[in-house]
Amino acid sequence: MRKYIIIITLILILISGCGKDEIPKLDNNGVTNNDQAEKNEINNPDPEKIKEIGANELGRIMIIEYHVIGEEDARWARSYTSFRQDLEKLYNSGYVAVSLKDMIQGNIDIPAGKTPVVITFDDGTQGQFRYIENEQGEMVVDPKSGVGVLENFYKDYPDFGLEATFFVNYYSPFGQGADLSKRKITHIIESGMDIGNHSVNHLKMNTLSKEEAAKELALIVKMIKDIVPDYEVETLALPFGIGTKETEWSVRGEYEGTAFENIGVLLVGSTPAPSPYNKNFPPYALERVQVFEDNLDKWIKYFEENPDQKYVSDGHLEVISFPESKLDIFNTEISKEIITY
Ligand SMILES: [Zn+2]
Repeated sequence: MRKYIIIITLILILISGCGKDEIPKLDNNGVTNNDQAEKNEINNPDPEKIKEIGANELGRIMIIEYHVIGEEDARWARSYTSFRQDLEKLYNSGYVAVSLKDMIQGNIDIPAGKTPVVITFDDGTQGQFRYIENEQGEMVVDPKSGVGVLENFYKDYPDFGLEATFFVNYYSPFGQGADLSKRKITHIIESGMDIGNHSVNHLKMNTLSKEEAAKELALIVKMIKDIVPDYEVETLALPFGIGTKETEWSVRGEYEGTAFENIGVLLVGSTPAPSPYNKNFPPYALERVQVFEDNLDKWIKYFEENPDQKYVSDGHLEVISFPESKLDIFNTEISKEIITY
């Protein structure tokens, strides 16, 4: 009997790799086995953890919408202090800003357990981006303007991200004249944020011919290309949320040698958008959540009370995770690994 116990103990020692004080072995790349194990944990999603955090990448995503940023709140205006508070509420509720383009293309690369939010501004009003002169006589970003609030928030909370899309019209976007307008557009693009198309004249697009609509959209693309040649304007927020007579006219076209092609077209109202992995994701009719009064709070609360409706990341860009009960709304044409629970 004792003999058997010794043999079994010996076998156990051999299997477990010779005791606790073993020095980690180096593989060919000089990476220890322990490092490799850690790496695998990061690269390979753990289904148990995915279930635990309630990853739901078929949940809905808020594309939030601002117009005027100013001193006071109103139906179409948000004070800069309220705007800052909106960002704080989102951050404290687990949201991370993602770019509209990434959201539309399903490139939502945020940490596990976090929820994406897309920030948009329409009409290129001055309060969204203002320069002011400092004591040294230099023009600096007004901290009370939309871009100033966003950039200062990003300094305080870098993990929130600095992502927003500004939908502009023609004739000196953001006011303050043509020179500063160009500087602002360059600043937005260089900082990694986006410019979107809001048409030249902000007309009701359903009243326009195909050629008139193409002119309204292509000239914005040309205006931005003349300022930042390698930047692609490829998202459109329809003025008043009103579409062209045929959807195709909003999506692609050409006017006097300038072509445009939009990967996403946004409406004005009024609910969170489906996930880009949902088979019913409508890239050319994306609804938005307008921020006025307590409308944003209501939606944050709605998602807290209905967590199955909320997009929650699994932390892995190449993997899409969601509860098995949602399988019927998954777009099976998407070629990413899926994990259900
Ligand atoms: Zn507008």
